[in-house]
Amino acid sequence: MIFDSLSEVGGQPQMLYPFKKISDIPAYNSINGTALIQNLKSGLPKETEIITNHKVNDIKKNADGFVLDNVVLAKSIIIATGAGAFKPKELPLKMSDEIQKRVHYFIKDPKDFANQKIGVFGGGNSALDLAIELANYANVKIIHRRNEFRGLELNVKKLRSLTNVKILTPYLPKDIQLINNQLDITLKGIGDVQSRHEQFDQIVVAYGFKANNRFIKNWGIELNGTNIAVDPTMKTNIDGIYAAGDVVSYPGRVPLIALGFGEAQIAITSIMRDLFPEKTLTIHSTSIMSKMCCK
Ligand SMILES: Cc1cc2nc3c(=O)[nH]c(=O)nc-3n(C[C@H](O)[C@H](O)[C@H](O)COP(=O)(O)OP(=O)(O)OC[C@H]3O[C@@H](n4cnc5c(N)ncnc54)[C@H](O)[C@@H]3O)c2cc1C
Repeated sequence: MIFDSLSEVGGQPQMLYPFKKISDIPAYNSINGTALIQNLKSGLPKETEIITNHKVNDIKKNADGFVLDNVVLAKSIIIATGAGAFKPKELPLKMSDEIQKRVHYFIKDPKDFANQKIGVFGGGNSALDLAIELANYANVKIIHRRNEFRGLELNVKKLRSLTNVKILTPYLPKDIQLINNQLDITLKGIGDVQSRHEQFDQIVVAYGFKANNRFIKNWGIELNGTNIAVDPTMKTNIDGIYAAGDVVSYPGRVPLIALGFGEAQIAITSIMRDLFPEKTLTIHSTSIMSKMCCK
């Protein structure tokens, strides 16, 4: 069973940079975040249960294994919480439910916004990437509180060159209303710049994310700074609990996707050894291993 605190699985590639080209995944020249996650999901065994919108808060050991949040009994656990359960930084405005439906923090498919007027709020790489992708299908205005963007200059140049993109700076959103089926946003000018109103069908907010892994401490897991200390088999200080991905810490580790793939393999092999000590595992073939486990 896979638990994720967000409404979909896929972690940072899916949520933070779905359209960025990733060039360091073995066997792909390059692949974007959404496609990578889609491919990984399509490779899951059909028995895999994915439970989204569930932040695991509590893990208790009993005689049969571990009880997660009083709902699931597991024999072994792999903690792969990355930078932590992350939440988008929200637009700091009062909004009705109807308005909220048109305010997005994640985008799955930019085609969903085709032929619409879209406001993108933010000034970092995510905001610039999203604006570029949306501009393939929609009219886009990108609104940032400073004249300078924090994202790549190359992307700022690209946005400036597109005729269906307008850059509005330096503005802060002050109020949002639904008027004549359009979002009417009051933008407060900063410095000498005059305030103005803009109308959009939908808006995308890319102010970044808050994340933390503090909850892991309550599970009795030994930390190394803010990350989990593991041994070379990816085991934590508790028998039966393993960890993989950006949440782990050991000398020389770098926060990259490919490392997480390898660490997951080590953790799974170690779990198989724990659970089936009487069997001889053929380490070089995962298909043989999965047959052994599931018979
Ligand atoms: C902008 C950006 C660009 C990057 N580009 C690259 C790149 O080009 N190549 C590369 O290799 N790496 C890149 N990275 C790094 C890469 O994204 C990370 O190394 C990778 O996502 C780590 O994977 P993970 O599964 O360990 O954690 P994450 O991707 O952070 O996933 C952790 C998941 O666990 C969930 N979670 C956390 N706590 C709980 C809980 N208590 N209960 C349930 N669910 C929980 C979270 O919601 C999240 O979905 C980039 C990162 C960023 C931010």
